[in-house]
Amino acid sequence: QKLGLNEIRKRFLDFFESKGHLAQGSFPLVPQNDKSLLLINAGMAPLKPYFMGKEVPPNKRMATCQKCIRTGDIENVGKTARHGTFFEMLGNFSFGDYFKRESIKWGWEFITENLGIPQDKVWVSVYENDDDSYDIWSKEMGFPEERMVRLGKDDNFWEIGTGPCGPCSELYYDRGEKYGCDNPDCKPGCDCDRYIEFWNHVFTQFDKDDQGNYNELANKNIDTGMGLERMACIMQNVDNIFEVDTIKYVLDSVVKLSNTEYGKDNKTDTSIRIITDHIRATSFLIADGVLPSNEGRGYVLRRLLRRAARHGKLLGIKGAFLYELMDKVVDISGEAYPELVEKKEYVKKVLKIEEERFEETIDQGIDILKSYIGELKENNKKVLSGENAFKLYDTYGFPIDLTKEILEEENLEVDEESFTEEMQKQRERARNARQNGESEGWKEDVFSKLDKDIVSEFVGYTSLENECMV
Ligand code: ATP
Ligand code: MG
Ligand code: MG
Ligand code: MG
Repeated sequence: QKLGLNEIRKRFLDFFESKGHLAQGSFPLVPQNDKSLLLINAGMAPLKPYFMGKEVPPNKRMATCQKCIRTGDIENVGKTARHGTFFEMLGNFSFGDYFKRESIKWGWEFITENLGIPQDKVWVSVYENDDDSYDIWSKEMGFPEERMVRLGKDDNFWEIGTGPCGPCSELYYDRGEKYGCDNPDCKPGCDCDRYIEFWNHVFTQFDKDDQGNYNELANKNIDTGMGLERMACIMQNVDNIFEVDTIKYVLDSVVKLSNTEYGKDNKTDTSIRIITDHIRATSFLIADGVLPSNEGRGYVLRRLLRRAARHGKLLGIKGAFLYELMDKVVDISGEAYPELVEKKEYVKKVLKIEEERFEETIDQGIDILKSYIGELKENNKKVLSGENAFKLYDTYGFPIDLTKEILEEENLEVDEESFTEEMQKQRERARNARQNGESEGWKEDVFSKLDKDIVSEFVGYTSLENECMV
């Protein structure tokens, strides 16, 4: 019998509780008191004050299952086996308590003894200069060196700017040759889906100063992150994270709703997986208080939703449909995330309003973009002007990445620089209009009437999402 995703989550938290950790559920997707990050993208992100010594943790050992959003992975979704914009990250953390030895040992114990993962399929990477980790794996744990690799800074060293940082050790699962690529040197660290990375152990042992020196920290920390969907994918021996029990349940209803078949045609499958991912991401975002808008995290939500809506069109779905799929997300994740159950009707309402609004312009927008594409091809041109891309954005609500995606399907591109200039001009127009007392952005008002209890979203800054490793 296959281990379900929800069961794996519970096992992880119970396991680390038995090792003296305070185990708890997820923090919200919206960072609290942290302006450096748009959305939580790793288990460690909400725990930063503890790692930086700004706050005292409730326990020196903690374990969580954290909701994460990584919009940086958006283009991978549905294409690779292992990326979602939304996923859950399991993690164990030590704030100046245990270090490498325990983290590696317990990690190994969990996957081999508790989950029963086949040991000979596991590969391990360590940072090229981190002999301590190498020796713990090879000498103390007896891990075969032929399945160990040393990787460089890009893959196996974690740092953002100055402050706490350090080497990583990652665990990979070899899914076999059939998932491999043409690279004769295909090994962990290769970008294909054969060696699927599932657990990153970060050893924050340094404090990087502004001169670029790495000073040993007195209190060394452990920060690990394991993708729950990836672990479930491995345990359930399925092709990709979308075929994991819980996610497959959502995917199946996308298939049903669109009257398509899954597993027959690559393009159709990609659309199905994109919708499946984006309905999860948008449901969780709205449940955590994010509302569609043209800025910040509200715009992340809007982009995901509109992209999903467009893939619905590709599958031949008529009208707004995402809100109906939200029920399925609640079915599979409601127990672990009660906020979904609590806010269900509200989330559906927001989804429906936003979708129906886009519905008013999407068909026309697609037609216009098609005519632009026709013109480009006729004239043997490759690049859509920023002005036309802006028109699609401003009049038809097409986020630039949506326009880009459609163009890419035709091997065309967009002049992003001049698009940005057009955006800039519009901002100035809006500023002038405000100064003259004219109102703008009437379209946003619709959400303010919805639910006064929902904390409205902070959109005061538009920093790009800060992607970090764990
Ligand atoms: P990859 O190289 O596969 O993109 P990563 O190195 O970016 O992964 P980390 O930042 O190390 O990932 O995050 C820790 C763990 O979180 C990963 O080992 C993986 O299990 C999981 N993870 C990361 N990104 C995603 C994603 N987009 N979807 C699902 N799981 C993810
Ligand atoms: Mg990544
Ligand atoms: Mg990686
Ligand atoms: Mg990694």
